[in-house]
Amino acid sequence: MKPFLLAMLIALAATHSRAELTASDLAHADKLRAAGLASPLAYELVTSLTDIGPRMAGTAADERAVAWGVERLKRLGFSNVRAEPFTMTAWRRGPGSAQVTAPNPQPLAMAALGNSVSTPAEGIEAEIAYYPDFEALKADTGDRARGRIVFIDQKTQRQRFGATYGNAVRARTQGASEAAKRGALAVVIRSISTDHDRFPHTGSVNYDKAAPKIPAVAVSIPDADLVARLAAAGPVRLRVAVATETDVPVTSHNVIGEVPGSDLAQEIVLIGGHLDSWDLGTGAIDDGAGVAITVAAAKVILDAGIKPRRTIRVVMFGNEENGLDGSRSYGARYKDVAHQLVGESDFGAGRPWRVSSRVLPGALPVVAQIAKALAPLDIAAGDNAADTGPDANYLKTRYRWPVVHPDQDGHDYFDYHHTANDTLDKIDPATLRPNIAAWAVIAWLAAQSDVAFGPLAEATK
Ligand code: ZN
Ligand code: ZN
Repeated sequence: MKPFLLAMLIALAATHSRAELTASDLAHADKLRAAGLASPLAYELVTSLTDIGPRMAGTAADERAVAWGVERLKRLGFSNVRAEPFTMTAWRRGPGSAQVTAPNPQPLAMAALGNSVSTPAEGIEAEIAYYPDFEALKADTGDRARGRIVFIDQKTQRQRFGATYGNAVRARTQGASEAAKRGALAVVIRSISTDHDRFPHTGSVNYDKAAPKIPAVAVSIPDADLVARLAAAGPVRLRVAVATETDVPVTSHNVIGEVPGSDLAQEIVLIGGHLDSWDLGTGAIDDGAGVAITVAAAKVILDAGIKPRRTIRVVMFGNEENGLDGSRSYGARYKDVAHQLVGESDFGAGRPWRVSSRVLPGALPVVAQIAKALAPLDIAAGDNAADTGPDANYLKTRYRWPVVHPDQDGHDYFDYHHTANDTLDKIDPATLRPNIAAWAVIAWLAAQSDVAFGPLAEATK
C-alpha cells in the first residue's frame, strides 16, 4: 500500500472515531426511547391546548395559549421559561358566502383564504373562467379571465409524505395574483385537500405586489366537483362575498423553555411546534400535536436525570400560519448563537416512519447512529435532503442551521388541515408516543455529539 493511501485511511478512521457517539450516550438514548413510548404527556398537552380553542396570532385565544405554554413549561420543570414578544400585522375573517347563481342557483361551502381582501358588500357576481389546475392558469396568455371569477380546480394527491402538497398549494398561495394579472375580479379555488366532505380548507394567500389584490376563497371538494360539472356543460356564474380585516397591528409571542446543557451549554438543540392555529378548527393536528410531542420529548430528557451537553430548547412558535413572524423574530434574536439542530414537528400526529437529515457530510456517521437508535421504532434511514416544519425550515434556510427530522405518516393530514374539522378526535394517542420517543432520541444524541452538524455549507431551499 502506498504511504499516502495508508495516511488517508488513518485520517478517515480518525474522522470516524470522532464521529462515534459514546456507548453510554447510546444506552441512554435507548432509555429515552422506552420512556417516550410510555409517556402519556403529549396527549394530555394537546387535549388542554385544543380546549383553549382556535388561536390565531394576536387574538385573545392566542394570549391564553401563550399563558398556557408558559404555565405548562414551568410546571413541567423546564428552565428559563419565557414568552418573547414580536409585533406583526394580522388578518381577520368576517362573514363570507359563495353561490352558484346560474345555471342552477345554490349555496357553496366556502371559506375565505387568509389575507383575502373584502368584496364590496353586495359581493362580486360574474361568469367563471375554469382552469383545471394552477399551471393551466399560468399558461393562459389570452383574455379569458378578464372581468370574470377565476376558478382553479387544483387536485391534491393523497400521499404518506405529502410530497405533492407543495405543488398543489401554489393554487392557494399564488392563484389570486396570477388571476389578477389576467384581469380577474376574484379567485375561487378547490380546497387544497384530500378529503370528500364539505369542510372548506383555509390557508394563506401571498399577494404579489405586481398585481391588484382580489378576493380569494376556497370551496369544499364536493362543491368544486359541482362547479366543474356545471362548467363542463356550459357557462357558470358565481357570486362571492367576503368581509375581512387586513393589516391589524398585534403583538404575539414565542414561548420557550430549556433543558440547560453542560460543557456545550451555549449551543442549542431546538425542537418545537407552532402554538397558533387557523380560526376554523381547534388546531389539533396543526399544530397542537407538534407542540405536545416536542414538549413531551424534552420532558423525557429532563426526567431521565442526565444533563445534556448542549442546551435543549423547546420553542412554541407564534404565527406560523400567516407570515412566520415567530420564526423570523426568533432568528433575528438568536442569529449569532450556534444551533446544532432545528427541528419542528408540524405534520400532524401520525406515526414516524423515516428519519431524514440536512447536516454537514462529516456528521453523517452520527446521523447513521441516530437512525440505528430509532430503528426499533420501525423508523427507516432517509436521505440528507430533509426539510422540517415551516418555522424551523425558515431558520434552516436563512441561517444554515442543520436539521434531523422524523418524517411522519401524513396520509390523512390534508383531510383535516386548516378546516373546522381539525379537532382532537383526529389524534390517536398511540401514534403520539413513537413521535415523543423519536424526538427525544434525536434531541439527546444531537446534544451529545462531538461533531458539529452545521452550519450547512450553503443555503438550502
Ligand atoms: Zn402547521
Ligand atoms: Zn397550517
